Amino acid sequence: MISIKNIQKIYPSKQGQVKAVDDVNIEINDGEIFGVIGYSGAGKSTLIRMLNGLEIPTEGTVVVANNEVSKIKGSQLRKARQEISMIFQHFNLLWSRTVRQNISFPLEIAGVSKRERAKRVDELIKLVGLDGREDAYPSQLSGGQKQRVGIARALANNPKVLLCDEATSALDPQTTDSILDLLVDINDRLGLTIVLITHEMHVIRKICHRVAVMEEGRVVELGPVLEVFKNP
Ligand code: ADP
Ligand code: ADP
Repeated sequence: MISIKNIQKIYPSKQGQVKAVDDVNIEINDGEIFGVIGYSGAGKSTLIRMLNGLEIPTEGTVVVANNEVSKIKGSQLRKARQEISMIFQHFNLLWSRTVRQNISFPLEIAGVSKRERAKRVDELIKLVGLDGREDAYPSQLSGGQKQRVGIARALANNPKVLLCDEATSALDPQTTDSILDLLVDINDRLGLTIVLITHEMHVIRKICHRVAVMEEGRVVELGPVLEVFKNP
């Protein structure tokens, strides 16, 4: 589903250059929940942003759901992003729109008819457990509910891959667990491939099949969670 080959990302900086991602190779399976863990500055967000073309690697190739995202641009990239969607730490919702309007937004952009949109939004609201909150504004929702809107919006166009950028880092432990349960449920029911980045071991242990550990731009360990995190 995802093939990351020899990628490197170098940012220019005052001191010369920063190698944010340094020769990373990862293959992620169809239907897998794959985690990337590491301290701040390890290169996690640069890596995940290269999976949907938000950053272009300096070297190497990234293929996601048959799209060579390290190469494509413009309308091709916009189309690919319907298959590779993303959720964020701070939700990135549209604050002046209701839950229903937020979830409907990517469907409007994709040109889905009004009737189809209404039907699809109803399904998504049920899927993420927001029944009864359709007409609320984001400011009226709890953190967990906001992330549920983020998830519903991300799923609107039936993506093949869901990227999660510290998606539970702004939530308390109990809410984190409920959002992780929802991600597992979605992975089970829709067969969606999930890639998440986090600095929290608990998140990886709770839902990931495999994990890559990043340090200073490099993957220093990669394998099934139980092997990588086994107690000595
Ligand atoms: P993480 O997500 O693990 O915290 P990042 O990918 O954000 O790591 O950052 C990796 C390194 O790249 C850090 O040294 C960071 O300062 C640097 N970096 C990230 N984005 C930029 C940018 N746009 N310009 C310059 N340096 C950047
Ligand atoms: P569970 O025991 O929770 O039902 P699964 O049946 O989903 O687990 O998976 C069995 C094992 O295979 C687990 O160790 C899981 O981490 C791993 N696994 C499941 N799906 C994938 C996948 N698509 N790619 C890699 N590993 C997977």
